[in-house]
Amino acid sequence: MTELGERLSGILGPKGWIPAAEAAPWTRDWLDRFGAPPLGVARPATTAEVSAVMGAAHAAGVPVVPQGGNTGLCGGAVLGAPGGVILSLARMAACGEPDIASGSIEVEAGLVLQVLHEALEGAGLMFPMHLGAEGSAQIGGLIGTNAGGSHAFRFGMMQDLVLGLEVVLADGTVWDGLRAVQKDNAGYQLRRLFCGSEGTLGIVTRAVLKLYPAPRQRATALLVLPDAAATVAFGTRLRAEAGEVLTGLEFFCDLGLDLALRHVPALTYPLQTRGGFYLLVEVASASDRMPLEEILTGVLEWGMEEGLVLDGTIAASDAQRSAFWRLREEQPEGQRLEGAQLKHDVAVPPGRIAEFMEAAGALCEGLVPGVRINPFGHLADGNIHYNLSPPHGEAGFGDRARDLGLAVAKLATEMGGSFAAEHGLGQAKVGLADALRSPVERRLMLTLRRAFDPGATLNPWAVVPADAA
Ligand SMILES: Cc1cc2nc3c(=O)[nH]c(=O)nc-3n(C[C@H](O)[C@H](O)[C@H](O)COP(=O)(O)OP(=O)(O)OC[C@H]3O[C@@H](n4cnc5c(N)ncnc54)[C@H](O)[C@@H]3O)c2cc1C
Repeated sequence: MTELGERLSGILGPKGWIPAAEAAPWTRDWLDRFGAPPLGVARPATTAEVSAVMGAAHAAGVPVVPQGGNTGLCGGAVLGAPGGVILSLARMAACGEPDIASGSIEVEAGLVLQVLHEALEGAGLMFPMHLGAEGSAQIGGLIGTNAGGSHAFRFGMMQDLVLGLEVVLADGTVWDGLRAVQKDNAGYQLRRLFCGSEGTLGIVTRAVLKLYPAPRQRATALLVLPDAAATVAFGTRLRAEAGEVLTGLEFFCDLGLDLALRHVPALTYPLQTRGGFYLLVEVASASDRMPLEEILTGVLEWGMEEGLVLDGTIAASDAQRSAFWRLREEQPEGQRLEGAQLKHDVAVPPGRIAEFMEAAGALCEGLVPGVRINPFGHLADGNIHYNLSPPHGEAGFGDRARDLGLAVAKLATEMGGSFAAEHGLGQAKVGLADALRSPVERRLMLTLRRAFDPGATLNPWAVVPADAA
């Protein structure tokens, strides 16, 4: 074992230090595209231990990459070269008691999102972040990527839900910013800076999160629509009519439905009609006096009269509601099980989604005739997971992948959007950022990184690489 390995093993004990030979489960990213063998995996149980690990790694000049649930889709939670330390927060998973009167809760970074949801059941409060990986993703990882998910258009991204943070800096110094108020304008918004920093500015160890009143009632509908233009038109009217009670507006396409039904057992499609696109709509309220079904059926009837909605159904039970959500949430899994795929996480102004679909479709078809295009995502904030499967009979995209990625990313950027909407840059999108963001933006990011981590030991491969010129 190296000197640093021995030191960390001494600090953390056998439960807290996994040597290189046993580190395989932490080594590769979720999509198995990135990762290199580590010196070992540090699994501290306290902030003091995180601080000691960081201090030792800093002194040795060895890179450290924090890892949460390792569900990130851009390769940000694994090493870019052998020999660094993976710092897993999994043992720091405590969940405090909710402060009911203030609407907040303090948690440790390793707490799994779904466990937080379960802990809040019956408290009358909820944490409004939902995504397909919530059974594994941890609060620290969600902060690290500034996660979005299906309710972000209504309640904000992670940066809007974090009130306070405790962070261990590159040299082991602990910043205690565990305040529990939304309003704190005492200088730069440090807590926001760590949201989306992907482990390059510090290690989040604890957070105070904002809670919202839990819904007392909800109504969930699954709708069939002819095409993207109808989906955008219907979504616009729905947002205007339902206002603040609209909490879910997710879309997927017929290819995605087909793949999910084919590959994911136990999924069922409850309607007779098929269309080009599908919408999962949810309205919810903490008040039991809000006429939710009336609001929803009113817009639905309008959509049907206008020919925008071909068919639809409202969930009659909690089980049916979950079944509708699974049709949307299993979209990534359906496509993964189909074989090779290219994932793009773009955002465009919501009113331009249909225009984007048309232009992106033409670009991709031009580059790879017969490419199978499977867009799904979050209609109300314009976030499209524009995913591609190769033409029937082809195993992958080969060297056409780069051109496809650049074309889709460039189009979204030119339309006033983003090529990295909610998954971050990680290692996967550093090249795209270099190509599509201005040198000014890149320099500002590099300046920040170097100010927080002059020794370049914090996740040096992600976002803007520490050795960038
Ligand atoms: C099926 C599926 C569905 C998904 N759906 C969504 C979605 O709807 N919306 C969305 O935004 N994302 C989605 N994701 C992506 C992923 O779940 C999110 O990026 C999530 O925030 C990652 O959390 P994690 O704990 O797994 O973090 P990891 O993957 O472990 O880490 C992500 C990044 O955060 C850093 N990090 C981890 N812990 C810390 C810490 N304590 N302090 C500082 N930095 C840290 C890591 O170094 C890495 O750069 C999905 C992923 C899958 C597999």
